[in-house]
Amino acid sequence: MRVQPERIGAFDGKLCFICGSYLLNNKPSDLAYAPVHTGRQVKAQPERYYLFQCPNCNKIAHKRCWYDVGEKKHKDGWFGPTRWQLECPSCGETLSPMRDERTKWKDGYQIPGHSDDKLIELRVTDVFAWKAGSVFGKIGKALDSFFRAVGLGSLTENETSAVARAANRIGKTTKDIASKVFRLEIPAEKRSEIKSLSCQNCGAPLPLPEAWEEAVVCEHCGTAHLLPV
Ligand SMILES: [Zn+2]
Ligand SMILES: [Zn+2]
Ligand SMILES: [Zn+2]
Repeated sequence: MRVQPERIGAFDGKLCFICGSYLLNNKPSDLAYAPVHTGRQVKAQPERYYLFQCPNCNKIAHKRCWYDVGEKKHKDGWFGPTRWQLECPSCGETLSPMRDERTKWKDGYQIPGHSDDKLIELRVTDVFAWKAGSVFGKIGKALDSFFRAVGLGSLTENETSAVARAANRIGKTTKDIASKVFRLEIPAEKRSEIKSLSCQNCGAPLPLPEAWEEAVVCEHCGTAHLLPV
């Protein structure tokens, strides 16, 4: 069942008990595929991923983590066939009978006895919208998860000159800029909602640049930050 955007906050900060990352973060490999019978692999649309809760111990994990780790191979004797069984990696509960085959992920793997329509469904756009809406009212730390570290050398020409201008504004030159640059990955229209910024390297407060400026450099450590324009 699709988690409605306003209910997504219930999963905020909770970790997948299998992979240890946030339930509200997904890898591309988590994205669901529709079960197919034609041999063609089709990603479920709109893009979504699922969470499954162990019916025995109630721990929650990405469906993909159940597939990767919970599905255990069993071999009947040395030369016997390999069979599959879903087991909870936390409590050890057996969650499926032995099966001769495990449907491949891209063929639309379903948790045995718990088809996708009964799982917790997160639409990628809903999660993103929720994250964007919830963090911009807050300050400091909450924004940090939207920063991605990139190498100074990987910047475009425009970005490089924006960094140079930002350095100039605080009396530095490009030579003073640290090689690691932080790019804030949020939709440009959300930028106006940011109330404060802090340096992703040293934690010092950063001055908010004018709306048309793409970069800001930390006075203390020379770390550049790129903002969407
Ligand atoms: Zn996981
Ligand atoms: Zn369990
Ligand atoms: Zn700094």
